[in-house]
Amino acid sequence: MSRKIFKRVMIKVGGESLIGDREYGIDPKATIEMANQIKSVYAKNTQIAIVIGGGNIFRGLAGEKAGIDRTTADYMGMLATVMNGLALQDAIEKVGIPTRLQSALDMPAVAENFIRRRAIRHMEKGRVVILTAGTGVPYVTTDTGAALHALELDCDVLMKATKVNGIFDRDPMKYPDSKRYKTINYKDAIELDEIQVMDTTALAMSSENDMPLMIFKLFDNDNLQKAVVGEDIGTLVSNDVKTVLADE
Ligand code: UDP
Repeated sequence: MSRKIFKRVMIKVGGESLIGDREYGIDPKATIEMANQIKSVYAKNTQIAIVIGGGNIFRGLAGEKAGIDRTTADYMGMLATVMNGLALQDAIEKVGIPTRLQSALDMPAVAENFIRRRAIRHMEKGRVVILTAGTGVPYVTTDTGAALHALELDCDVLMKATKVNGIFDRDPMKYPDSKRYKTINYKDAIELDEIQVMDTTALAMSSENDMPLMIFKLFDNDNLQKAVVGEDIGTLVSNDVKTVLADE
């Protein structure tokens, strides 16, 4: 698949992106940095929806390990994403971009309910839509929420922002000679244990509905902007590509 300019993008941002130098929670500096990256894409008239995770505050699986009922823990995780969404909304508006916050769990005092047609209208009017509480149901993660919302909002691509610039054949933090995958076929992403991209549920949903996925480092050299205009950064996962390493 050749890369193209995207008109409407879904960006999945893990909660850990908001931690900055801390070990837990939200660092306002990191949040503003992210908002500035969003701004650089926004200036190119790209319609943007963001699904924010909650891993910097609470994950359902960790809660379960600590002895909390899994379903309850998952709802706690969803609530964590709403806190992150509020922080991100604050930061994005501070850098001058209008936003709307929506939640898959009804919480009208702080966020609109997720309403598909309303979210699309916000983007058409130039507002960045921040989607919180994932899918609104337990036993899945915000990766699945991002895949689902990308499909229902007719996005051109699902983008997952990660710490390293794409998917590598070995952990790039440990092995300096590790190689980046330029492209990965969805079948390989789902079947091969050595290729960890995102949740299998999210991958299966994206593959079945032909939604391309891009994985890349958000806070680096205006990567988000480059990705949106189709430059070869990060890793593209699609049904139409072979799994190949980048030659660099
Ligand atoms: N969660 C859920 N349903 C969803 C989305 C999220 O139950 O549709 C819960 C789940 O417990 C998850 C937590 O919310 O661990 C935080 O989301 P996630 O782990 O995806 O955050 P990230 O890793 O992206 O920061």
